[in-house]
Amino acid sequence: MKQTVITLAALSAALCFGAAPKIDQRPFGTADGVPITLYTLKNKAGMEVTITNYGGAITSIKVPDRNKQVGNVVLGFESVEPYQATTSYFGALIGRYGNRIGKGKFQLDGKVYQIPVNDGANSLHGGTIGYNKRIWEAKDASTPLAAALELHYLSPDGEMGFPGNLDVTVLYTLDNRNGLRIEYNATTDKATVLNLTNHSYFNLASAGSETVLKHKLTLRADHYTPVDGGLIPTGAVLAVEGTPFDFRRATEIGSRIEDNNEQLKLGKGYDHNFVLNAPHSLEHWAVRVEDPKSGRVMEVYTDQPAVQFYTGNFLDGSAHGAGGAFNFRSALCLETQHYPDSPNHPNFPSSVLRPGRKYHSVTIYRFKTEM
Ligand code: BGC
Repeated sequence: MKQTVITLAALSAALCFGAAPKIDQRPFGTADGVPITLYTLKNKAGMEVTITNYGGAITSIKVPDRNKQVGNVVLGFESVEPYQATTSYFGALIGRYGNRIGKGKFQLDGKVYQIPVNDGANSLHGGTIGYNKRIWEAKDASTPLAAALELHYLSPDGEMGFPGNLDVTVLYTLDNRNGLRIEYNATTDKATVLNLTNHSYFNLASAGSETVLKHKLTLRADHYTPVDGGLIPTGAVLAVEGTPFDFRRATEIGSRIEDNNEQLKLGKGYDHNFVLNAPHSLEHWAVRVEDPKSGRVMEVYTDQPAVQFYTGNFLDGSAHGAGGAFNFRSALCLETQHYPDSPNHPNFPSSVLRPGRKYHSVTIYRFKTEM
């Protein structure tokens, strides 16, 4: 009851005194002759998130450390051009199919579909031109209680070989408890496969500083899916117990990354799909990362069945952005998702969306500090 009263009071105060959150906008360059915008979402706790409608990419997340020093914890650039040039998906929205599809090929309802290959023999993150290279329609969807940006993209039937016009909306909301909520909604007019996620690279010590090897990770995952040489799942679902993939207790990321382990060698480090323990709900975090140096902590809440934990093993310092060069293992990704290549593995949870059904998914990245 008390909670309700406070909420209503906050609401009416916001409405009466014009304090309702809204987002700032500024030009971010042009892509294919189209002006691109950078949107800034702020909250009352001193957190700020910038997002561009090019690829729906999060370009910065500024959060306080234990001494209340605000720092940017994701790799990003200050204009659209580097986003057009990069193949590393910095901060971007990923679709139509996150991660890999073996040989870019799958069958659905007896028909074979071919997605352009862009990662050796396989397709990665939706083929040669994924959602990360598309221009999204944007609108301010802020409410009296939170700043929010809505992005919309209509992916036409046959784009990158995928069947069906897919109508996708992504809502980014920044709450006052330092949570960045990403809500994905989609509908289709033909059966299709989809796997939507966000590809932010986090370094809680601040972007461009050192590696993330001293960060501590907890992953509520008893199993993971091992891969072959092309990083395509073999189809097995293995227990993490007794392996360097066991992060069920907070463990330094670098402590086992160089172990003599075939899977770590194939991934050049961690680049694996972890099967999250049920229930897949937003009630409890699924992943927690702590940086002992800054005291920053990030908790990831998701309704998705899995998460790709990737330690930036393909970063080589050639990309420079806010904070400096983006070096080998200088950031980590936690891409909440369906399992990679699931259209080719009937034993994996289905990623098929049919006409008349609504795809809906939520992931929250929540930031805190610890002494
Ligand atoms: C994949 C990596 C890939 C990276 C691209 C990750 O989701 O798992 O293998 O190199 O995306 O930046």
